[in-house]
Amino acid sequence: MPLRECLACRGLHRGTGPRCGPCTTQQDRARDAARGTTTERGLGWSHQQAAKLVLTDATTCAICGLPPTEDNPLTAGHIIARVDGGTNELDNYQPECQRCNYGKRQHGR
Ligand SMILES: [Zn+2]
Ligand SMILES: [Zn+2]
Repeated sequence: MPLRECLACRGLHRGTGPRCGPCTTQQDRARDAARGTTTERGLGWSHQQAAKLVLTDATTCAICGLPPTEDNPLTAGHIIARVDGGTNELDNYQPECQRCNYGKRQHGR
């Protein structure tokens, strides 16, 4: 398969579309957000808004203190897990890198 230049990031990729894999995923997510499908999937509007706000000013992970990298981006994590009674209010969110956020989940939170 010939290499193609991604429309979004200008990186070369072997996909069939005009964008590379990560950019296609990102585009799909943006489209989903605009359509509100994440709300339908159960995360809810308040989660979306709070997550967006928390990540706006975030520069480092609240758990490990490291800045995000390309393969370990910042995500909005719950300070008190939902299963422990945490809410989707803004003050229950903090910026967490993907690794810390996922690591937490693996331990049952
Ligand atoms: Zn790309
Ligand atoms: Zn972290």
